[in-house]
Amino acid sequence: MSNRIEFSSCIVCGATSFTDELVVTDWLVSNEDFLVKECNACSFRFTSNPPAAEHAGPYYETEEYVEHSDNAEGLINVVYHKARTWMLKYKLRLIRKHSDGKRLLDLGSGSGYFLNSMKNNGYDVNGVEISDKAVALCQNKFRIKAYSPTEFLANEIPGEFDVATMWHVFEHVYSYNEYFDMLHKKLTKNGTLIIAMPNYYCLEEKTYKKYWNGYDTPRHIWHFTPSTFPRFAKDRGFEMVKMTSLPLDMFYNSMISASYKKSFTFLPITVFVGLCSLMLSIFSFKRTSSVVYVMKKVEL
Ligand SMILES: [Zn+2]
Repeated sequence: MSNRIEFSSCIVCGATSFTDELVVTDWLVSNEDFLVKECNACSFRFTSNPPAAEHAGPYYETEEYVEHSDNAEGLINVVYHKARTWMLKYKLRLIRKHSDGKRLLDLGSGSGYFLNSMKNNGYDVNGVEISDKAVALCQNKFRIKAYSPTEFLANEIPGEFDVATMWHVFEHVYSYNEYFDMLHKKLTKNGTLIIAMPNYYCLEEKTYKKYWNGYDTPRHIWHFTPSTFPRFAKDRGFEMVKMTSLPLDMFYNSMISASYKKSFTFLPITVFVGLCSLMLSIFSFKRTSSVVYVMKKVEL
């Protein structure tokens, strides 16, 4: 696998001076190494040499990367399914708190579990999804229409939306400006944009470093934090109104990171790091491994 690209300037502040921060192996698919750089001006980190977008497909070819199946097998999957139900309720509460509108667009909608849960709570929902297989699943299982990213970017989705969500998706997106432009276009006046992403300024990263699954190179290109993302969003017409944590993600992240490290004390350390991280997140979302950014559209 080759055809790597290089970024010459910071997508947050435009600076061109970086520090080589760490080399992260693609533990999941290719076992290739990728360099994570940090901007010297604003501390934004990014995967500096990912494959070009048109060559990224093979790096997603793993069963584990597909959204977890319905066939719960093993402890991780059982826990995952319990956590998913809890998380769906958490997301509903968060959305209700920040928007009265009922038209929702979820980008990276996968097989549609989140959209279906929102539909059952009275929302008018659509998805955007890159995998044809997931689009078909969403349609057949839940009767929910999901569009391709190409259709989204070409403004071919009818109507406008009160809320748009991206749950652990934006860190994968190459055409970040085009996405923000179209989100700005598709959202109503004062529309709400909710984006969840990993946050490297967390305890798990300090514990697992290059094994921390939040890096997930080369699939994760952008490594935002609560210090860098508000500025990025503001420049593209979105004002930050709330930053908070996705509470259960820390246990999942800790488990996956420990499995990459092949740690013999896998379970106790995982639980310990997860609990410490949970405690820390109570005091500050800035130290949590998954941050949810809630933004309101403002006129540019
Ligand atoms: Zn920068």
